[in-house]
Amino acid sequence: MQSTQNPTQSLMYITNRPDIVFTRGSGSWLFDSEGKRYLDFIQGWAVNCLGHCHPAMIEALDRQARTLLNPSPAFYNEQMASLAALLTEYSVFDKVFFANSGAEANEGAIKLARKWGKKFKNGAYEIITFDHGFHGRTIATMSASGKPGWDTLYAPQVPGFPKAELNDIASVEKLIGEKTVAVMLEPIQGEGGVIPATREFMRELRELTKRHGLLLIVDEVQSGCGRAGTLFAYELAGIEPDIMTLGKGIGGGVPLAALLSKADVAVFEAGDQGGTYNGNPLMTAVGHAVITTLVAPGFLEGVRARGEYLRAKLLDLSAERGFEGERGEGLLRALLLGKDIGPQIVEKARDMQPVGLLLNAARPNLLRFMPALNVTTEEIDQMMAMLRTVLDSL
Ligand SMILES: *Cc1c(COP(=O)(O)O)cnc(C)c1O
Repeated sequence: MQSTQNPTQSLMYITNRPDIVFTRGSGSWLFDSEGKRYLDFIQGWAVNCLGHCHPAMIEALDRQARTLLNPSPAFYNEQMASLAALLTEYSVFDKVFFANSGAEANEGAIKLARKWGKKFKNGAYEIITFDHGFHGRTIATMSASGKPGWDTLYAPQVPGFPKAELNDIASVEKLIGEKTVAVMLEPIQGEGGVIPATREFMRELRELTKRHGLLLIVDEVQSGCGRAGTLFAYELAGIEPDIMTLGKGIGGGVPLAALLSKADVAVFEAGDQGGTYNGNPLMTAVGHAVITTLVAPGFLEGVRARGEYLRAKLLDLSAERGFEGERGEGLLRALLLGKDIGPQIVEKARDMQPVGLLLNAARPNLLRFMPALNVTTEEIDQMMAMLRTVLDSL
């Protein structure tokens, strides 16, 4: 920034941010304060499932802002009720609690499982989670995560989250004991580098947890809400989990998350769970507009078609450049580079002139693609062309 006083200087340092200030977004495009535009394949971190400033979201925000913002979480409002009804209609779950972030929804899932364990499983409280899993940044969800280094970052951790290996059913079975109450996983590990749990593993996990009387919790904060080409990723394996959490895409860019469960697992009693903003009508009105758009005829078919299109293009590029292929589901995909050039590509793509490209390297040896679910094939082509230009310049 050119100004003598840096306008961002009052922000607490948490990470290295590029020297760009974004001012406007539209669909798959972001615009900065210098007027430069960027093709956005990050989309708020797999959050803006309808792209930037979608008309359905604008309409819902505007309408609700003029009607009712917040009557208090101690009262019902129409928006919380109708979004909960919509989610139960389109999923295998019966009950919904709304929260503000993925981490908060996962905290709720952990509490619900522990409460259920207290009630029905002799006080069992351990939740088996997975290496390289990511469940959020509160102390409990960091403890549930399997991100290297997080076990010591804010030690001591919350106990009760033994770690298994994704796609290795024996590693899960080995950890089951008297204190085990649940298994929690991301159907597709997002932050870990877009690693899908295989359909077979998901089915084995459902069978194993049933056999031992354990809950199966799916963290669909990243994989849910159409991202995997189905409304929820558990559908890919044809299983019914007991608990699911949603975040990111459910709000399409506004802070909204949800905890869903089967009726017999919804064991919270008065005062067990809450939160000042839970189910506030402004955010749940937006969530309703987002989910309604996702389940409209043809939308998810379109996500699957464009996911296949992106997959084919990434495989072509991989073959052309000697990379190691790609993986993912729907429009959550990774290109496996085979070497640690991801961060360098991300930086060069962003700084390209006159038009930039926003990509993410979830790990140094891969690029993660999480475009708007309504991204066009032309925009995918444009992204691939820009990526080739960046690769040529390395
Ligand atoms: C992003 C993410 C979270 C955390 O969500 P926040 O809204 O950042 O708290 C939890 N689980 C998964 C799988 C995520 O991708």
